[in-house]
Amino acid sequence: MSHHYLSLPFGMRLAFFTILSLLLLPLSAQERPVDNPREQYCIFWGYPDNYLDNQSRECFKKIDETLKANAPSKKENINRDMALMALDMLLHDTRNDNSDAFHWFINTRLETMLADMKQPVKKGVKIYKLYNDGFIIKSKEATIAIDLVPGGKKNSPFIGDSLLMAIARECDAMFVSHFHGDHANLRVAKAFAAAGKTVIAPKGLWVDVDPNIKQLLTENEPVTVPFANLGMTLKILPGHQDDIYNNIYVLTFKNGISVAHTGDQYNQEDLKWIDNIRNEMHIDVLLVNCWINSLERTVKGFNPRLIITGHENEMEHTIDHREAYWMTMRKYAPLPYTNVLMTWGENYLYK
Ligand SMILES: [Zn+2]
Ligand SMILES: [Zn+2]
Repeated sequence: MSHHYLSLPFGMRLAFFTILSLLLLPLSAQERPVDNPREQYCIFWGYPDNYLDNQSRECFKKIDETLKANAPSKKENINRDMALMALDMLLHDTRNDNSDAFHWFINTRLETMLADMKQPVKKGVKIYKLYNDGFIIKSKEATIAIDLVPGGKKNSPFIGDSLLMAIARECDAMFVSHFHGDHANLRVAKAFAAAGKTVIAPKGLWVDVDPNIKQLLTENEPVTVPFANLGMTLKILPGHQDDIYNNIYVLTFKNGISVAHTGDQYNQEDLKWIDNIRNEMHIDVLLVNCWINSLERTVKGFNPRLIITGHENEMEHTIDHREAYWMTMRKYAPLPYTNVLMTWGENYLYK
């Protein structure tokens, strides 16, 4: 009598099949669930997507920790550079786009920023970097938001609404460089206006929405706006992104420190007057879009004491135009100007 598999009794066949399955199982998936709940976090065999998701979460967390332990500085810091480059890698892997890990990262960073904003600035000017080309500039007397936006899509913004509005409440005024959605958000502007705070917009944007939302009326000439109540003076320079109006704001505070924000400046003609800014005004800090045209010439025109770039890692772009932090490092290293590279939620106190 031959002992063919099919001729075995059912019970023996079942036992045989079970043993075979157990032998093959570790090749495709680990035992799950395991008894120890802590071990659940490390079961990935057979679940590559879950693996990558968990890897991103751990990396985002470690980047946040590293950056908190290594504050922005003029000095070289290999830990910061490595954290920012690790961030580039995560933000150029589209599997992380709109992931929980990404949302956690950006919101955690801005929550930390909000807590810091509640502290008074006694000396100098504190500059906070936000998504995307947004900045908040805080002196003893004034807190000014420039290009404050939630990021992401309307129905799935990157920055949670209550957090965004809490940040807006800490500010005294908002200046908007140009109408593009990554710089101008009407809901944020309306929140400022409703709280009695001035919003300044480029020519033609949000006309007749609210008397507190004021547009630049002129073109191709600089305009000075006094903000005596905030202890500062605003100068608006008539920049352009290609052929659209792009206000370049120069804020000069009571302590004499001046900060310029270039919005999305990208125009060859404007370089003619940008060349002369250094002769007309003193700029301490230049907040510049990292991919601006004729970088060296522009920076030379403003002749700042310090450069802080903005607009890296715009997540709405394809990865080739999500300007990485390592690209900023590469582009700005040869310039004979100091730069402090920051990411979302970080700040630098300029004195
Ligand atoms: Zn932009
Ligand atoms: Zn733009």
